[in-house]
Amino acid sequence: MENIIWFDVCAVILVALLLVLYYKKFSAPFQKYSLFLLLLWLNLISGITSLASFVLPGHAPLWVLRLLNALYFFSHGATPTALFLYVCSLTDYNLTHFHQLSAWLVPTIINSALCVLSIFFDIYFQLDPDGTYHRGPLITIIYILTCFNFFAIVYTLIRNRSLIPRLEQLSIHLFLVFMVSAIFIQLLFPNLVIENFICACCLMVSQLTVQNPEQIMDGPTRILNKTGFSYLLVPPLSNGKDFQVGFMILDNYYALEKVLGFDILEQRIQTFADYLRTNTGCLFARVENRRFCFVSQGFRDGGNVEAVLDKLKEACITRQAKYPAPARMQFKCGILRCPQDASSFTELMSLLDIAAQAPGSEDACFTRLGDGDIAKLRRYKQIEQIVQTAVEDGSLYVVYQPIYCTGSRRFCSAEALLRMNSKALGEISPGEFIPIAEQNGAILKMTQFVLETVCSFLRTSGIQEYGIRRVDINLSTMDCTQTDISQRILKCIRENDLPPSLVSVELTETAFSSLPESINRTLTALSQEGVRVLIDDYGTGYSNLSRLTSFPLDIVKIDKSLIKDIPGSPTARIVLNHTLEMMERLNKRVLVEGVETQEQLDYLLPRNDCNYIQGYYFAKPMSGDDLVALFRDQHARSCSPNPDAVSC
Ligand code: C2E
Ligand code: MG
Ligand code: MG
Repeated sequence: MENIIWFDVCAVILVALLLVLYYKKFSAPFQKYSLFLLLLWLNLISGITSLASFVLPGHAPLWVLRLLNALYFFSHGATPTALFLYVCSLTDYNLTHFHQLSAWLVPTIINSALCVLSIFFDIYFQLDPDGTYHRGPLITIIYILTCFNFFAIVYTLIRNRSLIPRLEQLSIHLFLVFMVSAIFIQLLFPNLVIENFICACCLMVSQLTVQNPEQIMDGPTRILNKTGFSYLLVPPLSNGKDFQVGFMILDNYYALEKVLGFDILEQRIQTFADYLRTNTGCLFARVENRRFCFVSQGFRDGGNVEAVLDKLKEACITRQAKYPAPARMQFKCGILRCPQDASSFTELMSLLDIAAQAPGSEDACFTRLGDGDIAKLRRYKQIEQIVQTAVEDGSLYVVYQPIYCTGSRRFCSAEALLRMNSKALGEISPGEFIPIAEQNGAILKMTQFVLETVCSFLRTSGIQEYGIRRVDINLSTMDCTQTDISQRILKCIRENDLPPSLVSVELTETAFSSLPESINRTLTALSQEGVRVLIDDYGTGYSNLSRLTSFPLDIVKIDKSLIKDIPGSPTARIVLNHTLEMMERLNKRVLVEGVETQEQLDYLLPRNDCNYIQGYYFAKPMSGDDLVALFRDQHARSCSPNPDAVSC
């Protein structure tokens, strides 16, 4: 008797330890992990009932012994089926095609029915009145069912060998070999009850080798990491399921890291994650240091996500009240809808990137991004996609705004301005798409497009004959960091047989100040070749005046914000007057942008420190054809015998 129970005692101890380990360290919200847990529990039940049926005869009533034996056969029979399901889950983290597997569950159903009948009839086992166990007449059935399950496992392993990692294949094969050997040994030597023990040993090897929750869980917080979250979301996303994803971005992560130190901050996040895991009933993930996402269990409808956000807000405020303001975590949060907002995991993550850039409230612990903000994010994302292919799609075109020369009292040049008309969103203003293109690098292709369009326009339209002196092209900061930018501009000018002075480039004041000194050389080279360099939007950035003056800038374009309140506001007059006077003393020519009214014009025209004017007063940006017509008319008038006309 002592020898018989020895293996079962070890099996129960071992599997109990594995269960503790599982709950402490090896759990994850995926079927692969749940099925492994099922295997552990089945092994524990099998071990305990086996032990009990050896120990209890003579001490417990017969019906208890019948029940325990039936339970033993049930857990024993269910183990190969659970192992089969576990193998299936290795091919697909969540068994989305569960219904297709129902046929394979037939053995377990038959076994369960026979187990229930065994409580009343001598089917799997017979018990003497003193409780002594004997094999029943139908015991062979359980072996046949087990064989069937083992066959199903081997078949699934072979069929999906390319999908299942090698180590996992190896561990399952070993599992099978050991289990089959154990069954044979126990059949031949009924006193060597080793099945449970061998099964527990195989489970231990599997737990320590192929159950790798650290690949899908965030170590410190024990919630899913980005990989784990992607495993969770990819199936519902690819099935087009409708669900909501809540997100929370810890806005001041890096500031807190400085204030609290990395360790304390991570501890705080860990406590917070514990709260999330235990109090919300949602599945949380830490997809990046400072970004958390969550979905309701089973992707149930979204009201839940909304309610969780409210709950988190309350918790965030009350639980952090004890800390001084600079040591409080500040979250920005919102809800994204799938598939409307994002139909793939990558899209979802890129929306989070954008949400991270959305302004949060500096003093609030919890800033909720509303539907409006999310709509803006969505539009941003759409535009981001559009700009990538805008040049190839033909959705870009160039318009020209004429520039008026106060000396000759006629239009003398124009600024080329980019426009985008996309199929999906219609006209998009440059104020919206240029910053996005600057961020994702598409601006480089766009600048090249403007350059080529302008050069070809100047060559083919005949506008040079009507006296145009220059067309200005806007350059972005990124353009200027390209070492070959001046060669590219000069190449395009030469290819179109244009004098270099006909094309000029504008660089904003902010871009100019933020660029490294080395760029001066590139721009100086351009200027020496005859391509003028203009500084745009002067008055909106922080100018490095010494840098501005040391550089051969031809024209300074005063931003429209400096003319907006002219002539009404005395302060605006002082600022504008001083700026114009300073530029005159520095020997710079000045263009004032954004002139819209007669009063503004009357204020500027009599002065001799404003050389050029650009604004809606004269004309809005127009097509190339309209610009040609404007210059042609002006040319015709100036050459006509009319005494009022300006001379040629
Ligand atoms: P910007 O270079 O300062 O261009 C002048 C902007 O002011 C243009 O806006 C023009 O339409 C607008 N404007 C002109 N006169 C008036 C006026 O009297 N009142 C008002 N309120 N506005 C006036 P737009 O075309 O929307 O362009 C906005 C900005 O987008 C440009 O400012 C420039 O920074 C950028 N941008 C436009 N095209 C390009 C381009 O090809 N490349 C680059 N890098 N940036 C461009
Ligand atoms: Mg400009
Ligand atoms: Mg400007």
